[in-house]
Amino acid sequence: MQRLANCINGEFAPSESGQWIDVTEPATGAVYAQAPASDAQDIDRAVAAAKNAYPAWSSTPAAERSRLMLRLADLIERDLESLARAESVDTGKPIELAGRIDIPRAAANLRFFATAILHDEGVAHHTDGQSLNYTLRKPRGVAGLISPWNLPLYLLTWKIAPAIATGNTCVAKPSEVTPMTAHMLGSLVIEAGIPPGVVNIVHGMGDGAGAALVEHPDVPTLSFTGSTRVGSWIGARAGDMLKRVSLELGGKNPNIVFADADLEQAVPTAVAAAFTNQGQICLCGSRILVERSRHDEFVDRLVAQADRFAPADPSEDGTRFGALTSEPHLRKVETAVNEARRLGGVIRCGGERVSLAGRCAGGYFYAPTVITGLDPSCSVQQEEIFGPVVTVTPFDSDEQAIEIANGTRYGLAAMVWTQNLTRAHRVASRLETGIVWVNCWMLRDLRTPFGGAKQSGVGREGGRDALRFFTEPTNVCIKLGDTT
Ligand code: NAD
Repeated sequence: MQRLANCINGEFAPSESGQWIDVTEPATGAVYAQAPASDAQDIDRAVAAAKNAYPAWSSTPAAERSRLMLRLADLIERDLESLARAESVDTGKPIELAGRIDIPRAAANLRFFATAILHDEGVAHHTDGQSLNYTLRKPRGVAGLISPWNLPLYLLTWKIAPAIATGNTCVAKPSEVTPMTAHMLGSLVIEAGIPPGVVNIVHGMGDGAGAALVEHPDVPTLSFTGSTRVGSWIGARAGDMLKRVSLELGGKNPNIVFADADLEQAVPTAVAAAFTNQGQICLCGSRILVERSRHDEFVDRLVAQADRFAPADPSEDGTRFGALTSEPHLRKVETAVNEARRLGGVIRCGGERVSLAGRCAGGYFYAPTVITGLDPSCSVQQEEIFGPVVTVTPFDSDEQAIEIANGTRYGLAAMVWTQNLTRAHRVASRLETGIVWVNCWMLRDLRTPFGGAKQSGVGREGGRDALRFFTEPTNVCIKLGDTT
């Protein structure tokens, strides 16, 4: 069985304690690797390495940092097939999806920030002829980066790239559920020639290595993506310790379909938004709201097209829908659907585990599930399920659609389907979310702010926001003319 290792100061090592975490292949239910169960000792070593590397890395010219990061992006692309295979085994997602989206986007993250630092502009203010102010932006030291299991390499590089591009060094703690591609990234970081200690990767449980990283006094910057529950704890600790923190958290994203929507586009996109990656994307549209006159037609078409996402072995090329990422998560999804039944919801399709034959007989498969007839205020429509479960609710007016859409504690993303441009702008401006997609889903431009409102997050990542987040401004004020 393969044993993964921490990557600290450019070298691979097991945890100091010698403890291990079993890593399971979700498609089979079998343990196939072990990752180090690191704790505070390992985090101490990694932070010390990052601290040691910081003076040289932060004074390395931007062009050189950029060159090394572009090399890393090239290496990710060179190894695309093996990384996609590893990500599929680790997460249960279709290999086709990992190879088409996750891994290429990891390379794109590195390229985006590696080149952004070559073109970033500073700010200067000329104040009434009396003084000149200009703002320096300096890296902040060691960044602590914590990522979840659903898009493991993509979200890890989304944090590592802006952190090191701006001259910080980092300690990254990937999810203990899906550590494989982070382990492989460690080798590529070394091969790319990124100096030892600039990128350290420490595996371990959240309440072990994760908490130790959050509470380490030499880590002034924290970027976390994961659940609202854990994010809330991290935000509180960061507040106590006066750290800068960015939190990318859960969602319960509304997909609003008006009667004038083009259902030829809206239905297949709603299916993809509900079930891609088995519904385990924070941006999935899990609450579909349809104007009453087209509700029944929409539901019929949605259910018919959900068949496109029949669960199958994720390692096979034609598979579009794989396994849920862990057994506890499968149970969480089951519990939510049982609760929907108890509340009187109508299961229009799915609503049960799926057993596959052969290699995948022990895997964590759950059928794409469409539920109608639930009140928007019930727990199933309020709490994130993060699985292949979507509810459909009718509405009678623009105002009611907006009210239901905004009626959860989350505010990550929303979709609006209408042919009426005025309505699209009006509704978009009223939605309390970080992103609104009009007549589309998941189109991303890395220059735009990314993140959630309300309890979906604090701060924004992406584009200039990430460059700002990982740097500290110092304003230099020069008096012009006489210095008396
Ligand atoms: P999680 O919060 O359980 O874990 C996320 C990471 O935090 C893991 O690496 C985990 O080990 C670590 N962690 C757990 N407890 C910790 C602690 N006390 N201190 C420090 N680290 C700790 O989330 P998950 O189940 O891995 O991921 C699913 C969640 O992530 C969903 O809620 C989903 O919406 C969210 N998510 C959000 C975004 C976004 O951009 N907003 C993107 C992807 C996933």
